[in-house]
Amino acid sequence: MMEGTAQSLAIAFIVSLAAGLLAIAIGRRMDAAHDTPPPADGFFPIVHPNSTLLLIAAYLAVAIYVFVPLMVIVLLAELAFSLPPAFVIAPLFAFAATLPAGLLLALTLRCVACRKRLLVQEISSPPFPTGQHGLEAHTAIYARIRTERRCRCMYCGQEHLVSRRRT
Ligand SMILES: [Zn+2]
Repeated sequence: MMEGTAQSLAIAFIVSLAAGLLAIAIGRRMDAAHDTPPPADGFFPIVHPNSTLLLIAAYLAVAIYVFVPLMVIVLLAELAFSLPPAFVIAPLFAFAATLPAGLLLALTLRCVACRKRLLVQEISSPPFPTGQHGLEAHTAIYARIRTERRCRCMYCGQEHLVSRRRT
């Protein structure tokens, strides 16, 4: 039993190390291939046509941030105390629903000016990062959508209002 656990841990370590190295290599490739759009004219904010979806994405992000550590805790508790199956299955289902929904929205929502994906950081240092309360990149963008109902494109700097009112 213990041998099996040690073996799985070793495999998990090697897999995550390989995935990490692969991610760095892919990141370098993407940085090199990326073309930054010209800065948006002025910074006159535009109401985003999919404001409701941006808000949903911002709140799904919170759900995902809560579910990831929750799943770790639940799985550790399951290993330690073997919980009733419902305790494991319920959060697993919730996580399995929010993660793809959040990813799908992040892949669909685009900047009004340059059409790049507003919520996806494709390069390591975008020219217009949103920094807030020590948060970086997309985390700060989601936070700003929730608290200020605004977001800025990290690629061209276009400011978007997250509002259903057209101006
Ligand atoms: Zn843009």
